[in-house]
Order: sequence, then structure tokens, then C-alpha cells
Amino acid sequence: MDIINYLTTIKFGAGALVALPGAMQELDIQRPLIVSDHGIASTGLLDRLKSALTMRAPTFLDVPTNPTESAVKQALSVYREGKCDGVIAFGGGSPIDLAKGVALLATHDGDLEQYAAILGGIPRITSAVAPLIAIPTTAGTGSEVGRAALITLEDKRKLGFISPHLIPKQAICDPELTLGLPPYLTAATGLDALSHCIETYLSPRYNPPAEAIAVDGFARIWKALPQAFADGNDLDARTELMMGALQGGLTFQKGLGAVHALSHALGGLKSLKLHHGTLNAILMPPVLRWNAEAATAKIERLEREAGLRSTTLADALDRLNANFGLPSTLSALGVSRDMFNWICERALADHSHQTNPRALTAADYGAILESAM
Ligand SMILES: [Zn+2]
Repeated sequence: MDIINYLTTIKFGAGALVALPGAMQELDIQRPLIVSDHGIASTGLLDRLKSALTMRAPTFLDVPTNPTESAVKQALSVYREGKCDGVIAFGGGSPIDLAKGVALLATHDGDLEQYAAILGGIPRITSAVAPLIAIPTTAGTGSEVGRAALITLEDKRKLGFISPHLIPKQAICDPELTLGLPPYLTAATGLDALSHCIETYLSPRYNPPAEAIAVDGFARIWKALPQAFADGNDLDARTELMMGALQGGLTFQKGLGAVHALSHALGGLKSLKLHHGTLNAILMPPVLRWNAEAATAKIERLEREAGLRSTTLADALDRLNANFGLPSTLSALGVSRDMFNWICERALADHSHQTNPRALTAADYGAILESAM
């Protein structure tokens, strides 16, 4: 296990889960609330987490695919009943985001809404946020080192809660936890991580250190993802993927782009339960084609890193999606054209819209959606 101090303390490596009791001690957590989900409990992973703990801990598992305010409130009441003093998030992006909401409301008064970034909430989130340890079980979201949580409020608005204080105080990244992830989820979560590296790299915000991390993460994921897809037990490939996903999360401060503006909007459709990584896999090729004229040199750099000579990154991603057996169109997921206006409106209002390298109107978003149908 290696210890990396960058934005937060990261304990990284096969078997790193054993570092959990030490992490709790360092953060002075005596009574943790575990936030995970039923899927993870059914794989037996949760038992592994519990056996790494030296005490019994209350556990909240009712985490929806897209975390909601009502689930945050339910988890918060378990936290209060258990007189907890910290949170352990164990899972993919959803349990980690929900745990951030619990850590926030455990120490901050009032409703969640007032802390939303677009409602001026960023300065209202203080260092009093309860200590959170994030342990990812997928190599994808990067939320274990991210400053944001996406939570849907009671009135169905899906809002971003963003603050450096929401970055988990420690991330324990153990690639052994991802060995059992099925090929489809390996591909979809890995392509989400790849999209973080691509979008943060292409973002126009000036931050060369973050760009160097994004390019390195891109190259690792590009090489390791087909290997992990072909052989889920390839620990070297799983380790590279987990590092790439972590690197994608370490660069979030540059901001994402149109892929995420659209996938956040699509993820808010009530009638469909769409998987974030699958959406990004479908949206990356058309958005790269749209951005080509505004980010030519950067896209060429990524093509060199990927070893592409006679093909574009967008075309190579189309082929990769097909090799992984991912759906190739939004229509295959049930998206229809009558939803476009609603989606485009929300994409324009999304925090990722601002940092796309080429400006977009609602009509431009509509054209990208059309090309993905
Ligand atoms: Zn993402």
C-alpha cells in the first residue's frame, strides 16, 4: 500500500482495506455510520468491510441509483440514532455522494437546498463537515477524491453540492475490491473515468498540473480497460484502472464539459433510470467531434497517448463501445426526441456546461443528441 497526499490522504494498493482502522483512528472516528447499497451487500463485499472494522457499526443501504434528499435524511436519522461521529462510504459514486450529504447535514443546520452550488451554497459549507472515509468498489466516479455530490431534491431538481470540505478526509483505494465487477460494469464505469480525464483535460481553465494528471490517467485507462474487460481477475489491470479513475477525480477542479452537462440532464429523467457511465460512453464520440475545432492540439495529444495513427479518438471510442457490447445510441436506452427540449434546457444550466472548450447553445446540444440517436 502506498500513501499519496494530494488534495486529501489516499491509501492506495491491493489490500489497502486493512488501513481502515488506522484511518478511523487518525480522524478520531469512534462510531462510524457505514453508507453502502444492497447490491454491494449481496456480493459479500460489505462483509469484508465489516470484518476490517474492530466494532459493530450502524449501516445504511437504501441508496438510490441517483441519490436523493429523502435518502440523505433517512441516513442522517440512522447517524443521529447511532450517535455517530463520522461516515464510511463504501461503493460506487451513489453511496459516496449520499455519504457526503450526510456528513454535511450532520453538522450544518437547515435544509440541504441552501448548500447547493447554484443557489450560492459553496461558502456556507464549512470545515465542520463530519469526517468521511471513502472506499470505492468501482474504478469510475473519482468521487472518493471529488469535491462534489449530486443529489436530487424533494422537488426533483438534481443539484450539485460543491466544496473542498466535501472531499473525503481519506480515500482508501483497494483494487482487490473491484475484481468481481462484471465486464459490462467494468466497461461503463471505466469509460466514465476516461471521460473525466478527457473532459477535464479539454476544459479551458488554466491548470497545467491537473492537465498532466488527466493525460496520465487517460493513458492508463485506455490501456488497462480492455485488459480488465477481458479478464476481470487481472489485478495489474484493475490497479491501473483504479489509479486512472482516481486521477480523473483529482482533476475535477478544472471542470467537466458537454458530455457531463448532457449526462447529468439525462440522469435526471424520471421516466428512465439511465446509467451515468453508459451515457458518457455514448456521448463522448459526438461531443469530441463537436469540440474538435476548439481543442485540436489537445485531442491530437490524446490520440498520440492512445497510440492512434490513422483514426480519430472519436472513431476509436465508437469501436471500443461496440467491442464492449455497450449500447451505441440513446434511443436504445429509451430516450426519445420529445425529451430533447427538457434535456437541453438542463444541460445549459448544468455546472459542467461552463467549462466545455467550445460554447454551445440549446440547438447545439440538440444536434449532439440527434447524432447520438
Ligand atoms: Zn462522470
